Amino acid sequence: MAYITVDDDKKLKVPNRATIGYIEGDGIGPDITKAMINVVNASIEIAYSGERSIEWEKIMAGEEAFEKTGEHLPKDSLKQIEKCVISIKGPLTTPIGQGFRSLNVTLRRQFDLYANVRPVRYFPGVPSPVTHPENMNMVVFRENTEDLYSGIEWKYDSDGAKKVRDFLSREFGISLTEDTGIGIKPMSKFKSQRLVRKAIEFAILNKRKSVTIMHKGNIMKYTEGAFKDWGYELARTEFAQQTTTEDEYLQNPDALSDKIVIKDRIADNMFQQALTRTAEYDIIAASNLNGDYISDALAAQVGGIGIAPGANIGDVFAIFEAVHGTAPKYAGMDIANPTSLILSAVMMLKHIGWTEAAEILDEGVTACYRDHRVTQDLARLMNIRALKCSEFADEIVKRMRKEKS
Ligand code: NAP
Repeated sequence: MAYITVDDDKKLKVPNRATIGYIEGDGIGPDITKAMINVVNASIEIAYSGERSIEWEKIMAGEEAFEKTGEHLPKDSLKQIEKCVISIKGPLTTPIGQGFRSLNVTLRRQFDLYANVRPVRYFPGVPSPVTHPENMNMVVFRENTEDLYSGIEWKYDSDGAKKVRDFLSREFGISLTEDTGIGIKPMSKFKSQRLVRKAIEFAILNKRKSVTIMHKGNIMKYTEGAFKDWGYELARTEFAQQTTTEDEYLQNPDALSDKIVIKDRIADNMFQQALTRTAEYDIIAASNLNGDYISDALAAQVGGIGIAPGANIGDVFAIFEAVHGTAPKYAGMDIANPTSLILSAVMMLKHIGWTEAAEILDEGVTACYRDHRVTQDLARLMNIRALKCSEFADEIVKRMRKEKS
């Protein structure tokens, strides 16, 4: 086995026979993972004729791990993720209101995967609730490690909540009633700026037009408002040559046409602009909660989260993942739509520099949708026969070979 490594400049070194870790996940996870591995292997074979390949290393997590080891995320699995550097995962169950923390949140914390990257674009042929879904081509960079997801919260009747209420009353004269639960929203300059940096770097690398900082700074000035200010400050200090602000751009659009425009939108406005002026938005940099909301809303405009991919990326590690959950009612039936995980694998192939395979795979998926070869989630909206999950993967492979020959 040959593991991917990271050099001192945080650049990936990827061997031709690269080991990639995979977590099947719960519910529909095993079905969609099998489909994903099938199409990824085929795309690499088509692109590199045997010169490159992936050695898939299974990593146990979730219900399967619990059954076998008594733990949902065993220490050995964490070690494997560390060793692999790059992994891909299916969805994992998070029991609501029960004792253990979301495994997804734990993984993001453990490996400092601070940027949740979610590209959203339209595939012709996919049913959409809007008139011009083809205008959508955005990538959301969502901060993944702080904000209201930090887990600093107290139930209304706990000792902790009482202590915090007493402290607020004593120190600041803020009075909260005894039935008030408390959550804390920490947002720091370092973590906000490293997220915005990743978004701007992506925009530069991919020749995108703008980065919009999404925030609710008019109300939460020292968290959301600071996120916006720190974002602009970072663009000014680290990317002065490549970026301009929207104000500067509007005054001199011809002279600044080659610059990436940094703009900001208040969160509620961002939601309506995404619907009404879709084509004017490109990369979105958002705090954790805003990013969570906007990425699902954008995905809905082009056919839903069943087909939207995602990645959790840090300076060293990256875990690519299906955006949707475990859809337990479809578990083991071979009927789920594997597109989200497959497009996440496209992102992964690009991330490790295997761009040719990524493009071939992307074209295969695009061709399937163009030809109306879809799984039941979309077939029922189109009144056509549904493919099974595994059949859909086979159809992608057929089209990859055809488009290439
Ligand atoms: P969900 O699993 O995403 O499923 C909700 C509905 O979305 C399904 O009933 C199905 O709709 C549709 N769906 C989702 N993925 C699909 C796919 N690949 N193919 C076809 N249809 C798909 O959301 P949930 O029911 O809220 O969550 C279930 C469990 O997943 C929970 O334990 C939750 O914590 C977990 N979860 C995990 C992740 C993750 O690991 N990243 C993310 C979200 C949720 P129809 O019923 O209309 O057919």
